[in-house]
Amino acid sequence: MKTREPRQPRRARAGEQVFEGLGVAPGVAIGVAHRSETGVVAVPEYEVAADRIEAEKQRFVEAVARSQKQLAKLKTKSRALSADAAEELGYLLDAHAQMLAGSRLVRGVLNRIESQRQNAEAAIRGVIAEITEGFAQIDDAYLSARQADVRDVGERVIRQLTKTPYQAFSQLPEGTIVVSEELSPADTALLDPKRIAGIVTALGGAESHTAIMARSLGLPAVLGAPEALRAIKGGETVVVDGGEGRVVVAPRAATLGRYKKRQAAWAKELAKLAGMKGLASVTRDGHPIALHANLELPRDLPGAVEAGALGIGLLRTEFQFMNRDDLPDEDEQYETLKTIVEGMAGRPVTIRTLDVGGEKLARALGPEIGEPANPALGLRGVRLGLAQPRLLEAQLAAILRAAVHGPVRILLPMVATVGEVRRVRAMAEQVAKRLKRRGLSIGDALPPIGVMIEVPGAALSADALALAAEFFAIGTNDLTMYTLAIDRADDQVATLYNPLHPAVLRLLQFSIEAALRAHIPVSVCGEIAGDPRYIPLLLGLGVRELSMAPPKLPRVKRRVRHLNLLSATQRARAIMEQWDEQRISELLDSFDSEQA
Ligand code: PEP
Ligand code: MG
Repeated sequence: MKTREPRQPRRARAGEQVFEGLGVAPGVAIGVAHRSETGVVAVPEYEVAADRIEAEKQRFVEAVARSQKQLAKLKTKSRALSADAAEELGYLLDAHAQMLAGSRLVRGVLNRIESQRQNAEAAIRGVIAEITEGFAQIDDAYLSARQADVRDVGERVIRQLTKTPYQAFSQLPEGTIVVSEELSPADTALLDPKRIAGIVTALGGAESHTAIMARSLGLPAVLGAPEALRAIKGGETVVVDGGEGRVVVAPRAATLGRYKKRQAAWAKELAKLAGMKGLASVTRDGHPIALHANLELPRDLPGAVEAGALGIGLLRTEFQFMNRDDLPDEDEQYETLKTIVEGMAGRPVTIRTLDVGGEKLARALGPEIGEPANPALGLRGVRLGLAQPRLLEAQLAAILRAAVHGPVRILLPMVATVGEVRRVRAMAEQVAKRLKRRGLSIGDALPPIGVMIEVPGAALSADALALAAEFFAIGTNDLTMYTLAIDRADDQVATLYNPLHPAVLRLLQFSIEAALRAHIPVSVCGEIAGDPRYIPLLLGLGVRELSMAPPKLPRVKRRVRHLNLLSATQRARAIMEQWDEQRISELLDSFDSEQA
């Protein structure tokens, strides 16, 4: 994976254009572009009850505010473009933002909600029709462009209201390249890799859940490429080079030929790697390293089994709560978990309790979370579960029931204090008693309860947490984000995001050593666990269990098998004596060539 600063088009020959962005999921995709923002979203139409009018207006006002935020983000992003492009796009975005600031559109919608009791979506469509009808009477190119702007702005707010912007994904033909301003993790979860060949977006960082999801689906993806977004209208042939972070629009025959060869070489490499499945994950000097899979959705289960995962090291259950209007109840959660536990046929499944919040939003949980001022620091992870006990209790009940079908561990996200672990344990004990009273068969003992080490405060108190928890899973994605104060989902600071920063490494080392001293298992399940580059360092620091997106497993195994643990340990020690990030990188990257 390469993260680089977006640059201007390298070449712009007749037809073909090449753009660069963040290459976040490797591989080459060649397909037909589909602009996900264009196209009209189907909207519900209903009469708003008299006592719901104020709430409906508020819903609209909030959607307008979210749209304004989105436009502001795009405006900031546009500054990275060439002067001409930045100016042109800047005007357009300003014009759209103005239309959302007390304009005829906004007033008209509020009016319709109030006087005609129309729901917000229908009111927007009505006002757009009114305004554009007026324009249509006048034959003027400028006004006809404004007409399109009104429609664009209105549709943006509708997408915010319906929060189902990309439902049309399921209708797309095979080989489509999805091109979008921004894809949320929930949107990405809807992408079917059988139809969708690749992804291009204007916004999004390399460690965002959208990027993680693309990697686990094996979809070549380039994020943070606003110039490509400007050039692609939809319908063109596009090449997505997710390794190099390059997007080629309307490629010439020679370019296409070159990328087809690259595609074939990539497929050959994947086929070769598939041969790793039957091989043991053991270092050259004979130390076994457990390789587990990170899983978002049950549909990824065959991929984990196929890759030869020893277990599921991280099940991100929040994806079961996304793209729906209601919450899954205990029975539904149980059925989903049972499928996964049974599918792993006796191999352990580490089920993380709900970790919505931050960039991972679930529509059905909106009322529970609200709109925090700072989502990354708000009511998320285990805090949400403890603040809304019914949510967590239902999930714990489903987990305890699923544990009858195979070995299960419970993992708590975003833990900051020992008290949180104790409270969840007490809750799990109560839930177990209740299940038994209901006559349901569950195990006598609770499954092991572990914590994600992903908040710097948790890492610094890892010695205390190791006494309260039965295992650690180190989440280096969030740990890096919170330690360095760099939003993992923001492409503008993507180049600053560095898990090799000495502060992150010290927290990592302290947490691993605390677990080893307390004799509890410790794994790493952040993205670095699936990147062969970091393996000598992680093993050298004492980690013996890694969890990663299934497609990453064969390459990591190959690295493990080539590596001498004793040398890795010595190299990790040398790295930990350094404070210069550049030197740390050099020591890590020169390891292979120098190891005994
Ligand atoms: C992490 O933070 O490193 C992690 C594995 O959890 P997530 O990526 O789901 O936040
Ligand atoms: Mg995390």
